[in-house]
Amino acid sequence: MQLAQQTIVVVMMVVFSSTLLMSAGLVFALRASEAGRLWARGHVVASAAGLLVVACTAGYDLLHLGDTHSGPLPRGALQLSALAAGCYILGRLTIYRGVRTFYGLSQHTVPLRMFGLVVVTLLVIATGLADARLLVHALAYGVLAMVSFSTIVIMLRSTRGRTGIGGPVVMVSHLALLAGQVIALTSFASPISRDGAAMTPFFMQSSGMAWPLLPMVAAMMAVLLGLFGFCMMATEQIIARNETGARVDALTGLLNRGALDHSAAGLIARWQRDGEALSCLVIDVDHFKQVNDTFGHDAGDGILREIAAALDHSRRASDIAARYGGEEFCILCPHTDEQQATALANRILRKVRAIPLPGHERHASVSIGVAQLRACAGTREVIWRGLFAEADRALYIAKKRGRDQFVIASRVADADTEASPEVEPQLNLGDPTIIPITV
Ligand code: GH3
Ligand code: MG
Ligand code: MG
Repeated sequence: MQLAQQTIVVVMMVVFSSTLLMSAGLVFALRASEAGRLWARGHVVASAAGLLVVACTAGYDLLHLGDTHSGPLPRGALQLSALAAGCYILGRLTIYRGVRTFYGLSQHTVPLRMFGLVVVTLLVIATGLADARLLVHALAYGVLAMVSFSTIVIMLRSTRGRTGIGGPVVMVSHLALLAGQVIALTSFASPISRDGAAMTPFFMQSSGMAWPLLPMVAAMMAVLLGLFGFCMMATEQIIARNETGARVDALTGLLNRGALDHSAAGLIARWQRDGEALSCLVIDVDHFKQVNDTFGHDAGDGILREIAAALDHSRRASDIAARYGGEEFCILCPHTDEQQATALANRILRKVRAIPLPGHERHASVSIGVAQLRACAGTREVIWRGLFAEADRALYIAKKRGRDQFVIASRVADADTEASPEVEPQLNLGDPTIIPITV
């Protein structure tokens, strides 16, 4: 089935007007995602340029209404069309930069902008040469095919975005676009279509006044699918980032308290099911108020980050490390009894002592309470609170005994809390290799 040129012009105007409106809205809606911003901006430029190309085609039609379309195109109209084709390519290059950004690659902003300007210049220059329309057609479709091909290669090489629906949709749209662009290029190469080409610039008519329906519909669908897919990819990225942000502590990058509570419920359920050991370490930075008062809040933040990194590097992959609040941290260790947990506590004490405070005369230190989950009744929430409270009680005793050490909850007599006098608070000095006191 063939479509009349007027029908094609109307369809293209509707499609490009729709994508222009949608992408203009998306520039605002996707502003939280850098890739999404580039995709939306690129679609705005490409849609506006597409409208201009179609308007040039429509103008050409009006000028030659009723004749065979074989008359010469006014020179200014041809240059305007070539410029619009160039702008369309600039839009697609912006979309391509968005793809690179999404997949964590450098945007290549300057080279791609330079490349786009060279292409626009070449397109305009080509309008002054013999066979101008064919040159514009070949150059424009050649560059577009390169961009589609590079996009497909980037997407194939990355595992990112495959779990969502946006990535596959964009992939399908680019495969369809590439197929259309290659067909357009090869029809340019064919002598028959070259002879019979009553061309409108950039959008080549293979022969006479009509275009085949299927490739046209496929190309239009690809443009719409691409916009939809990019929108989905950006939305999925924003949702994933928000979910991560809701679980992660902004200062240290460890899990936050909410995520710890959530993980604890899961680990306690496993403990109830399998009966495997589960231990908890509550860790508090020693004399941190003095650290802040002496070196400033910013330095304090830096030290908190270093301590968090030390905890993160000390734990096993299956352990859950979180910032419980302020300068308190917690590590939950599945499949770990309290004896095994002391190895972790010792590693943490050593690593934290290796963190120098500003001035390098002193080092940071933490106190740790260790508790293992024993049989107890109640909801998971109650069991978790009980485990944490036990470890916290042991931590309190570690503080009373002089800090920079760990205490195991099960080895502490109830009276211990009252018995030992608190050691006068002061920053730790000196030897980072000091052996921790263990109970
Ligand atoms: P102790 O050894 O008994 O734990 O003494 P401490 O000074 O560490 O304990 P205290 O509870 O008196 O003070 C905790 C300090 O931690 C006070 C607070 O300003 C600081 N702090 C809590 N959160 C942050 C943070 O995010 N950044 C910084 N820089 N300081 C924090
Ligand atoms: Mg403290
Ligand atoms: Mg504290």
